[in-house]
Amino acid sequence: DITLSNRVQKIKPSPTLAITARAKALRAEGKDIIGLGAGEPDFDTPEHIKEAAIQAIRDGFTKYTAVDGIPSLKEAIIAKFSRENGFQYELNQILVSVGGKQSFYNLAQALLNPGDEVIIPAPYWVSYPDMVLLAGGIPVVIAAPQEQAFKITPEQLEAAITPLTRLLVINSPSNPTGTAYRNDELAALGEVLRRHPQILIATDDMYEHIYWGETPFCNILNACPDLYERTLVLNGVSKAYSMTGWRIGYAAGAPTLIKAMKAIQSQSTSNPTSISQVAAQAAIAGEQACVKAMCQEFKNRHDFVLEYLNGIPGVQTLAGSGTFYTFPNFQAAIASREDIKDDVELAENMLNAAGVAVVPGSAFGARGHLRLSFATSMENLEQALERIAAFLS
Ligand code: PLP
Repeated sequence: DITLSNRVQKIKPSPTLAITARAKALRAEGKDIIGLGAGEPDFDTPEHIKEAAIQAIRDGFTKYTAVDGIPSLKEAIIAKFSRENGFQYELNQILVSVGGKQSFYNLAQALLNPGDEVIIPAPYWVSYPDMVLLAGGIPVVIAAPQEQAFKITPEQLEAAITPLTRLLVINSPSNPTGTAYRNDELAALGEVLRRHPQILIATDDMYEHIYWGETPFCNILNACPDLYERTLVLNGVSKAYSMTGWRIGYAAGAPTLIKAMKAIQSQSTSNPTSISQVAAQAAIAGEQACVKAMCQEFKNRHDFVLEYLNGIPGVQTLAGSGTFYTFPNFQAAIASREDIKDDVELAENMLNAAGVAVVPGSAFGARGHLRLSFATSMENLEQALERIAAFLS
């Protein structure tokens, strides 16, 4: 037998990608499966973005580029930060990577030594803990239950901090809950962080543009501009522009950190795909009407799904401020059944008996919940919800 590294034995393949693959396999067997597991928008990439990429191929823009991204794309990202967020960056503060996933991966590799602790509020995006583990770090999970709208409190943050804490991860709006931190909540977390200058902050703003909260989108730098030096802002084009397959994400922060992350990237993937970079530039610098249209559609679906779910006995879900997920609590439904003991079994049963693919909350560090994605048509949503209601009744 081949002996594998200790490192790889600590992690598991992404559970969200696994459920999508399983639904696909069942469909290939001829089963009628509705997928609410997807972590990607169901829309096509907007035409002007595709055109830019086609032109790039025709122009022969098909060679290695600078490891950290082409200057024109980095300039477009800098302009985006200035225009939309009020943040100022120089070229040496931006790193373009192969999706938001690689941005966070680079960060973990560049920052963490074995035993370093990373605070991750749960429910969390499934990949944070595993990427921390791969870097030898220790995920320190703070549970933020539904009663707290899935948001951590300053007291919880203070209690989780130790001398080994290196990083706090904030993801708002959040995958899998759709809830977002308000400015005053971030200011309160910032107050705690000011007392612990050794801690860096990663704010994952991947869902910034899929947002309909009552107050404008904000991240911790809007609430606490003084944390600029130790905050890494992560974002990308995958979700906002329906470009998951193109694989472009980016990070902005302190030049030293960005330089270290770039070194990791230069010895792993090199530059992100040249053609995708041109497409991302067209997305970020171009007309933003497509983003608004997709966001509006997600909001409509959110409202529909929310009302439907909350009408099913034993199910309770919170209104989100963004993303294309909702994270209902099925605890009461689970408790009322002999044949199902937890959210993992509930998800399995829903797939096999009701033909609806969802991801168990445990994958996100929150038992008793399921993540439902509404990145699918209204028609599919109606059918899927009818099936879920029938299955539970
Ligand atoms: N961050 C969050 C919170 C996500 O949900 C995702 C994708 O699921 C990513 C980052 C990574 O996105 P990408 O496809 O650009 O790697």
